[in-house]
Amino acid sequence: MIHEILPVGPLHCNCSVIGDEATHEALVIDPGDDIEDVLGLIQKHNLKVKQIVITHAHIDHVGGAMKLRAATGAPILLNQNDYALLKMLDVQAAWIGVKNPGKVDIDQSIGQADTVQAGSLKADVIHTPGHTEGSVCMFFPAERMLIAGDTLFAGSIGRTDLPGGSSEKIIDSLQQKVLALPDDTLVVPGHGPLTTIGEERESNPFLVKR
Ligand SMILES: [Zn+2]
Repeated sequence: MIHEILPVGPLHCNCSVIGDEATHEALVIDPGDDIEDVLGLIQKHNLKVKQIVITHAHIDHVGGAMKLRAATGAPILLNQNDYALLKMLDVQAAWIGVKNPGKVDIDQSIGQADTVQAGSLKADVIHTPGHTEGSVCMFFPAERMLIAGDTLFAGSIGRTDLPGGSSEKIIDSLQQKVLALPDDTLVVPGHGPLTTIGEERESNPFLVKR
């Protein structure tokens, strides 16, 4: 597997470029910004982007999606429960003081039990509402890897004080779905360093059961 993790934009959203070494088909997850750099990685590995997957409709994760679609022709996938948030990109841009990227068109909704795929690489979509209503994580069972968006971070969890957030729902998503994954699963959070499910199960103050 080819996997490049590029922190993009002022909030350093972890954008993942994931490619199949045999077919060179690829997924790009959360192209929030810095699309020139993302395209550089795609070129470096000679990849053909098949799907652009968005973990949730916050501007730092979705802001560059249209530019990437224009450059690659790949469809943009987002859970439909975040379509309302996606209509507020102008408001979100004002929150963090960045330029409004303009309207983002979603080609397809993805939800629980769907799969995303590039060549032989396959990920199960897990719907994990809480940070936003339409937040999803992508689990690659063969590679034992989770792309967690802003649901789970090393030592922390996503904030729930923004529109569509729910602290009850994020804890429920984490306890019922995310912590159901094997301990040796590598977690790529939406921001910050990598971790594992086992590490978070043991030491994340939001998840440890006392
Ligand atoms: Zn977010």
